[in-house]
Amino acid sequence: MNQSFKQKVQTRKAQRHNVDELYTAIVAGDRIALSTAITLAESTLEADKALANQLVQRCIPHSGNSQRIGISGVPGVGKSTFIESFGLYCIAQGKKLAVLAIDPSSTQQHGSILGDKTRMNVLSNSANAFIRPSPSSGALGGVAQATREALILCEAAGFDLIFIETVGVGQSEIAVHSMVDFFLLLMLAGAGDELQGIKRGIIEIADAIIINKADGENQRPAEVAARQYASALHLFPPKDSNWFAATAICSALNNWNMDKVWDILDKHHRLTVANGHHAENRKTQNGYWLKEALQQQLFGAFYANPAIHQHFHVIQDAVLTNKMSPYQGAQELMHLFLRN
Ligand code: GDP
Repeated sequence: MNQSFKQKVQTRKAQRHNVDELYTAIVAGDRIALSTAITLAESTLEADKALANQLVQRCIPHSGNSQRIGISGVPGVGKSTFIESFGLYCIAQGKKLAVLAIDPSSTQQHGSILGDKTRMNVLSNSANAFIRPSPSSGALGGVAQATREALILCEAAGFDLIFIETVGVGQSEIAVHSMVDFFLLLMLAGAGDELQGIKRGIIEIADAIIINKADGENQRPAEVAARQYASALHLFPPKDSNWFAATAICSALNNWNMDKVWDILDKHHRLTVANGHHAENRKTQNGYWLKEALQQQLFGAFYANPAIHQHFHVIQDAVLTNKMSPYQGAQELMHLFLRN
């Protein structure tokens, strides 16, 4: 008994030591420490998550000083090529860039986005870039939370520009939109939104639509597409930020028009800092993530509760076979949960 207590104290001391060391190394810009901390944030082990939580908590005062950019688009649109090309452009402007990814579906598909680092050869070798592939498993909620924590950790490590990459086909865009200052959607010319698998809602949340692969024979169609998007976007009501979604064309392959994309980001940043939206939006996002975390923790506690464990299937069966209303079922489960 005594021994185990002693062990526990020792473990706790070691953990605190670990957190102290990691924290000091992260704020000094140590990439290995940063990677270790992100791995802890992505872990499904409670002990790791607790450590990550302490670290994130300590890093918060050092965070918040970056431009957070979401980058989305369907597979093949050129996201990695764009991130490499635009990322190098931004680094040349003096930025320190971290690239993260949200891709909850990666386990079922062909490997995670950003997983293949060779796709960003030059960028990944840059001293001013940090590229972190998507966590390779987990539900969106967990992956999104881990990515948000990674964002804070990267900022504490001195990265002042964060790209969060996601595949423009599903739910993860909403999660990314809720953690960035600017949402950039990459598109192609000559294919309708539906053909590109882009949902209407995603167009609406975009702060910029950039038509990629505007090179060779594709340049003219890209110009036409950009004009069409520009007039379509004007039909949407203005955003809370007072920003009208911008359009541009580029060729990530030829590193062409990266300065135009940079100008758009810069203009948006200056506008939203000046009109207060930048700070207000981050507050709103913090509130959103508080509720998300609370929901996750409540659900976690609910399903881990032994009484729920024991009775859930019985009540569920009763609801499925119309012996009990879903409302009544939920109420009985809540009673069980609150009593145990
Ligand atoms: P992702 O799946 O969205 O990450 O797309 P990738 O960056 O892997 O690009 C998919 C393919 O499109 C690759 O063969 C790229 O070389 C090509 N590609 C990307 N950007 C451009 C571009 O600007 N112009 C042309 N012509 N091809 C490009």
